Amino acid sequence: MNTVFIALGSNLDNPVYHVEKGITDIHHLPETEVIKESSLHKSKPVGPQNQPDYINAVIKIITNYEPLPLLDVLQDIENKHHRKRAERWGPRTLDLDILMYNDLIINHERLVIPHPEMINREFVLIPLKEITNYDFIIPKYGKLLQYI
Ligand code: ATP
Ligand code: MG
Ligand code: MG
Repeated sequence: MNTVFIALGSNLDNPVYHVEKGITDIHHLPETEVIKESSLHKSKPVGPQNQPDYINAVIKIITNYEPLPLLDVLQDIENKHHRKRAERWGPRTLDLDILMYNDLIINHERLVIPHPEMINREFVLIPLKEITNYDFIIPKYGKLLQYI
């Protein structure tokens, strides 16, 4: 089994519902289990400011999916939540980003792991801190606490 951290975000059409349902959808994936779940955090949008605030959470899962197949099933879940891909960083019903996958460093055209923006985003770092130990290490970047 592989240990993976996923960031969830939503700012449209009842964001709390989409984030909670997103977590349930991930839990229902075959050979996948959600083992830790942060609380829900409210944040201001990244990019265009003329959109509603976000609800964010981070979860820790164990899964048998390899990285790219995991990205595929997460995008299927986003699509099931009627996510439309309009402008970059625009409003969305559900965003599912893979933050870390074991201690892998991946630079694929469809998938960069650890997520390159995670160390710059409080809405990721704070919920991640909530579900990890104080000495948690982010592959490639080092101690989580130095970024908070
Ligand atoms: P950001 O990645 O800055 O948070 P975003 O989440 O709004 O932006 P999306 O529209 O959700 O961006 O995804 C754009 C593309 O990013 C996806 O099609 C996917 O191939 C790619 N991608 C690269 N690395 C990752 C990752 N670690 N997790 C999820 N998607 C990724
Ligand atoms: Mg994102
Ligand atoms: Mg995304």
